[in-house]
Amino acid sequence: MTAQIIDGKAISAKIKEEMKREVAELRGTGIFPGLAVVLVGENPASVVYVRNKGKACHDVGIHSEEHKLPESASEEDLLRLIDKLNKDDKINGILVQLPLPKHINEKRILEAISPDKDVDGFHPYNVGKLMIGEPIFAPCTPYGVMKMLEYSNIDLTGKNAVIVGRSNIVGKPMAMLLLQKNATVTICHSKTKDLAGVCRGADILVAAIGKDRFVKADMVKDGAVVIDVGINRLPDGKLVGDVDYDSVAQKAGYITPVPGGVGPMTITMLLYNTIQSAKKAAGKGK
Ligand code: NAP
Repeated sequence: MTAQIIDGKAISAKIKEEMKREVAELRGTGIFPGLAVVLVGENPASVVYVRNKGKACHDVGIHSEEHKLPESASEEDLLRLIDKLNKDDKINGILVQLPLPKHINEKRILEAISPDKDVDGFHPYNVGKLMIGEPIFAPCTPYGVMKMLEYSNIDLTGKNAVIVGRSNIVGKPMAMLLLQKNATVTICHSKTKDLAGVCRGADILVAAIGKDRFVKADMVKDGAVVIDVGINRLPDGKLVGDVDYDSVAQKAGYITPVPGGVGPMTITMLLYNTIQSAKKAAGKGK
């Protein structure tokens, strides 16, 4: 079998077109979704991510602001900025680009963002809401995976979903979202026994490990849906996922490529959450 490719770039472009139309309609009714992205320091990867987020907002018609603080900024400086953005009616979403410099307590910062503007879905309140099956803002990467499955008409009810990786930003929220769609969910990690055997039981296999080409064909059931969240850069500069794409694509039913798979969906869902937040602030939407 040669797997059908789930094209994250194409799905993301489709959702962006839909959002562009929706934002134009909202603007017509006086609702102007706005996102503030906060960057501390000059981490080169973060600078690129922040620039891409600004561009994506512009493409869809969302007001965006970049707030840059120097590497030397104190935790109090950052808390003051977040407090200002929490109170700013033009802003519906606040994203603090991670990682933060070592002297700043990441947890304290994420908890200072108003849960109503926490479009990354990392605030404990939103984590809890997701856990009890009432998500307000689902974290963007796993939410993007759910949209990819939805746009590919993959039914999850009763399916065995196995997630490799238990991080708070990918693995755990991924599990909650799949559970909500009635999948039977298993979360694996570095201490899991017989990982290959557990993965072979998966109808839906999500790899969020951070190790290049870790998932090999012998870990995959014939016809499985394989979602590769990993982004790993090889010494020659090439980007690869956590899945050994060439061999797994011969066995899986569906597969996401890297690049061009889950990656483009993450920013798209950030914009999506910002629009939902703007609608909610205006008394529309959920
Ligand atoms: P993370 O916090 O480092 O978590 C990695 C997880 O993988 C951990 O739970 C770890 O288990 C598990 N793991 C590591 N080695 C393992 C092994 N040998 N067997 C089984 N499990 C193992 O990573 P993350 O932040 O979730 O990110 C995962 C990957 O997704 C990375 O490549 C990252 O770059 C990528 N990512 C992509 C996007 C996107 O937009 N596409 C967004 C976020 C992340 P333990 O808990 O036991 O240590």
